Amino acid sequence: RQFTLREIHPIMSKYWSKLVTQLEPYIPGEQPQDQQYIKLNTNENPYPPSPKVLTAIKAAVNDSLKLYPDPNSVDLKQAIAKYYNVAIEEVFVANGSDEVLAVAFQAFFKNQSPSSNPLLFPDISYSFYDAYCKLYEIEPGRIPLEKNLSINLNKYSQKNGGVIFPNPNAPTGKALPLSEIESYLNKNDKTVVIVDEAYVDFGADSVIPLISKYPNLLSIQTFSKSRSLAGSRIGFAVGNKDLIEALERVKNSYNSYTLDKLALVAGTEAIKDTEYFQQTVSTIIQTRESTSKRLTALGFNLIPSSTNFVFAQHNSINAETLYLELKSQGILVRYFKRDRIDNYLRITIGTQNEMNTFLQRLDDIIKNLSQD
Ligand code: PMP
Repeated sequence: RQFTLREIHPIMSKYWSKLVTQLEPYIPGEQPQDQQYIKLNTNENPYPPSPKVLTAIKAAVNDSLKLYPDPNSVDLKQAIAKYYNVAIEEVFVANGSDEVLAVAFQAFFKNQSPSSNPLLFPDISYSFYDAYCKLYEIEPGRIPLEKNLSINLNKYSQKNGGVIFPNPNAPTGKALPLSEIESYLNKNDKTVVIVDEAYVDFGADSVIPLISKYPNLLSIQTFSKSRSLAGSRIGFAVGNKDLIEALERVKNSYNSYTLDKLALVAGTEAIKDTEYFQQTVSTIIQTRESTSKRLTALGFNLIPSSTNFVFAQHNSINAETLYLELKSQGILVRYFKRDRIDNYLRITIGTQNEMNTFLQRLDDIIKNLSQD
């Protein structure tokens, strides 16, 4: 069993700063180290990285590891810039998009003046935003999702110190059309608007084509999902060069080398291999669609997903029961014990075989529980 930070340190230490005692660290989904589970709980890609990535990493395991990596990550930035047709000065990279987010929170939202203007984000969303607000002492302004769990940007019109939302949103999987984001940008040019596009490749439109028009717009993305590199920890941001320069200033004030040599090589090759990327993403989308149909047939209500996961609620059996039953049978899905979503399961799309096993076991569990 994995222990949470709070279980390891149940008692507040007298050596801790006041800030540390007040933190509420993000708790990632379970990562069992024995590999016994079918893992459908942390939105990783079920397919391996491109073979070209693995070849490049192997070739990079050599004596040059004694040297520091390129602190400017030029090759990786150049490859990302080429892929998105932007300038290299409009690209920032760091150790996973979590680190890009952390840097962005410091660069744009920390110590805002007047400090009473909150950072606006959806009340049901990626819970790391709350953790960063605590860490950087930023006032959170949580905007409720609509009844149908969609984001309504018309509700983000109050004075703010910045705005962040995922598109598609997590854990709901719902995407906003680009036109709605653009009309919001036309109303808010005073503060930085970050669109967390961790899942964008699975069915939404990226805001990157809009960055030349809106100097306060930043897209943050990751190689952890659509590019099968969660283990390499590569994230990036694309935005106006002034925003990127702010991110570089923060990053270079705490660590010049956030990406190691092997990650730099892996990321560069991954973004170049467009064919492999398109193939794996489209397979995952097909599996998502067939899984969604079968879940509906098993009595689930689903929010139409634009991501590599589905968010589903059963019409008679509660989500926590299903989560625990699945876990006892070696299948991990994500369950959030949180108001309004505590009857949903977030199920990552695995390979077709993994989903067949999952659906078969789920069918058995539902039949057994319905007989009780
Ligand atoms: N944003 C969202 C919405 C996510 O779900 C995740 C994955 N947990 C991340 C960012 C961070 O991804 P990574 O740090 O692996 O790049």
